[in-house]
Amino acid sequence: MQKLPYAIIGAGPSGLSAARALQKVGLNFIGFEKHGDVGGLWDINNPHSTMYKSAHLISSKKMTEFTEFPMKENIADYPSHRELFNYFQDFSNHFDLKKHFKFNSNVEAVTRQDDGTWMIKANGETTHVAGVILATGTLHYPNLPDQKGNYTGESFHSSQYKDASIFTDKRVLIVGCGNSACDIAIDAIHHAKSVDISVRRGYHFVPKYIFGKPADTMGKSKMPTFIKKNVQKKILKAFMGSPENYGFPKPDHDLFESHPVVNSLILYHAGHGDVKVQPDIEKTEGKTVTFKDGTEKEYDLILWATGYKLKYPFIDSKHLNWDKASPDLYLKIFHPEIDNLFIVGMIEALGLGWQGRFEQAELVALYLKQKESQSASYMKFNGMKQKPIDLSGNFNYIKLDRMSYYVHKDTYLDEIMKHKKVLTTSV
Ligand SMILES: Cc1cc2nc3c(=O)[nH]c(=O)nc-3n(C[C@H](O)[C@H](O)[C@H](O)COP(=O)(O)OP(=O)(O)OC[C@H]3O[C@@H](n4cnc5c(N)ncnc54)[C@H](O)[C@@H]3O)c2cc1C
Repeated sequence: MQKLPYAIIGAGPSGLSAARALQKVGLNFIGFEKHGDVGGLWDINNPHSTMYKSAHLISSKKMTEFTEFPMKENIADYPSHRELFNYFQDFSNHFDLKKHFKFNSNVEAVTRQDDGTWMIKANGETTHVAGVILATGTLHYPNLPDQKGNYTGESFHSSQYKDASIFTDKRVLIVGCGNSACDIAIDAIHHAKSVDISVRRGYHFVPKYIFGKPADTMGKSKMPTFIKKNVQKKILKAFMGSPENYGFPKPDHDLFESHPVVNSLILYHAGHGDVKVQPDIEKTEGKTVTFKDGTEKEYDLILWATGYKLKYPFIDSKHLNWDKASPDLYLKIFHPEIDNLFIVGMIEALGLGWQGRFEQAELVALYLKQKESQSASYMKFNGMKQKPIDLSGNFNYIKLDRMSYYVHKDTYLDEIMKHKKVLTTSV
């Protein structure tokens, strides 16, 4: 009987990583992508993309690219989404990956069969598969806070934002202070009548360049974590000063305890009065916003840059071992019991890049290869995945939903390497 293929859902950086990893070990697979092309959210024409026209990489190209497929020398350190779309086209063409994907194929249901195999339903058609790799991304379902009051101005979530022309001559309030919020605030400055940013708590800001080099390349040094951390903190303090100097609240956490804002311009513009920092919102009435400090101001447009919720709506949540905000998976990839369902790309870390997602995918491919022969290393790995590993690198990450799948990059990659060894060494 012919072997069933594996399914990969999504053709963004993680889905392409999975496709390349399975291809490398010679496993048969079918990809499903609801858009008509590869690239995931880096394809601004993908209706499910949350990309905007001015977006560029936040991590530098050398820290983000696939190691086996470096970006061309003439590509800037922080390329735009347009160049990244081309990069994923080149990557897919180079490894001939597109032929494995069904495009315009929206997966509506992934159901487990009595024998443990899976059925994929996409566009009304079903496909029987031996296992499933979910690579549908983490930034697709808006997280909108409870909005007290009846705001009557224009109101959008950042997932709908594409182009700064929506701000022309308006009094704009950006809510939130993550990487997208700050990018969008900078866009708005050049079009709006005024731009305010409402922040709930303090943030750390990291410039894109330090000593003329992309700031994240500082993280490449092989120093022990605690020395590296202190050196980086001192250098950043010398470059940026304190956020309070620019009107932002003092952060209530350490630099490495949350994902920092990587933006060289937001503090500059705050210092020029182009962006005014406001506290958290208490309530709204008509076009008036009342802030928690009791002050009130009118706005024509509120843009909620309040992040995303993690969802895998096409599969019964009982299969994903959910723990509050995200699935509780071994190494953020493997279900503790089910051995043919994986997530690639449900991960966030400073500087993990697409190579980090590829490392995840390679581990899955090695695991599937060992599963085929039910080898001793497959058994050993199954034993290991019963005991969760601490991936925090001893950092006390702030307790937010979006941090539930955050890891310390060096700790995480070390663990991936150790686990790859288990799957490539005969026991
Ligand atoms: C503005 C912005 C800047 C960013 N900057 C960086 C950066 O500098 N560095 C970095 O590492 N990351 C950055 N990211 C994070 C980004 O999420 C990752 O780079 C990367 O795109 C994640 O890849 P992915 O394949 O996991 O998810 P996505 O790119 O989201 O791809 C998921 C794919 O799955 C498809 N899909 C979803 N549901 C279904 C379904 N039911 N059926 C079929 N297909 C489906 C989607 O259409 C999509 O093509 C940024 C994100 C944004 C929005």
